[in-house]
Amino acid sequence: MILPIYAYGMAVLRRKADPITPPYEGLQELVKNMFETMYDSNGIGLAAPQIGLSIRLFIVDGCKIDEDNTTKNLKQVFINAKMIQEFDAAWEYEEGCLSIPFVRADVKRSSKITLQYVDENFIEKTETFGGIAARIIQHEYDHIEGILFIDRISPLKRTMLKKKLQTISKGLVQAAYKMKFPKK
Ligand SMILES: [Zn+2]
Repeated sequence: MILPIYAYGMAVLRRKADPITPPYEGLQELVKNMFETMYDSNGIGLAAPQIGLSIRLFIVDGCKIDEDNTTKNLKQVFINAKMIQEFDAAWEYEEGCLSIPFVRADVKRSSKITLQYVDENFIEKTETFGGIAARIIQHEYDHIEGILFIDRISPLKRTMLKKKLQTISKGLVQAAYKMKFPKK
């Protein structure tokens, strides 16, 4: 089932999400729906707050982008993720977000991270990711912390985007996928 993606301006995107504990009823169905929703909108990552759920769950699939060899097997579910370490020099790369359609900007992020999380079967893992994989994961991880990529861009660029962001929060954009906007 394709779910509506919550737009910039929705309060849930600004909340620090809660961990989940097993058994979490309907988890497999939820994960399936999130993948379906992400593929429908051509995304490479989707976090639960983006579909209105304030829980520490996000999914990524970077298999199709093969820019630096870090994502070709990156199809994964991350639950209760905790950033253990962010290392190596930060590098800039252009990002976008399904909750903020038609906005793209350069964001500086670490090129290597270590993350602790459980997978969809609640198996505990600690893993290190680099390059684009690390970037996608950091973007999604930010979502469960209530942070958006536009928080990490230069103040000047943010000022330039102010109007565009207002347009989104007012529901005056038409993305190619279903979205949910704040009530007027
Ligand atoms: Zn996003």
